[in-house]
Amino acid sequence: MDAASLRRRIERLIQMHSEAYRQDIQNPGFSCMRCGWCCRENFIIRITSEISRPSNAISIFPEDIRLIMKSTGMKWDEIAAPDIYSCLSDGEKIWSIGWILRRNDKGECVFYRKNECTIYEYRPMICRCYPFFLGEQRVEVMHCEGLGNKMTKEHAKEMALVLKRYEIKKMRSYIGIINQLGEKLSFANLRALPRGFSGEVFICDGETISRQGL
Ligand code: SF4
Ligand code: SF4
Repeated sequence: MDAASLRRRIERLIQMHSEAYRQDIQNPGFSCMRCGWCCRENFIIRITSEISRPSNAISIFPEDIRLIMKSTGMKWDEIAAPDIYSCLSDGEKIWSIGWILRRNDKGECVFYRKNECTIYEYRPMICRCYPFFLGEQRVEVMHCEGLGNKMTKEHAKEMALVLKRYEIKKMRSYIGIINQLGEKLSFANLRALPRGFSGEVFICDGETISRQGL
């Protein structure tokens, strides 16, 4: 997707009232059971022949990281890792497209402890949206143990707004990354880093470019 079509999508989203898809959220019904299913690695998602990622490789915004840092006193690197499943090489450097939540040796989000999210009040935006995402045409619903639970109109309205804010933020973040990487960025060039990769990675998150040794 190019920056112009992302900007058009942002415009469409801004014009769209969240009430237009509120019912799509309320109909299936949802309330979080805090089961942690979405925080654990359950399966591998194959995106292209070159890219696959664990189901809980969760992309987060720098703003999410800053909020968790402020609320927990943790350091950036304790919270987030470069997205090693979404990288490209220009022959000189390896570039990573943004950050994901750190995972422990069992493949769980590092904040999932004793069967619950330990940062629930300040969890990333993407976790607040789950199990709903706003697609081009409709609301998409992911697997979730909390689906089918009765949902009030107010709760559905609140989620509809969160979904819209998340989608706009995601599009703006993509535009920032396009500006950072320019012509180097192409979906066809994206690869997961080989297992056991060791070296330096440059992370583009739409705000800054940082360097990290892996
Ligand atoms: S969002 Fe769904 S899958 Fe995730 S913890 Fe809540 S109930 Fe479980
Ligand atoms: S931040 Fe919380 S809700 Fe999000 S994946 Fe981690 S444990 Fe789950």
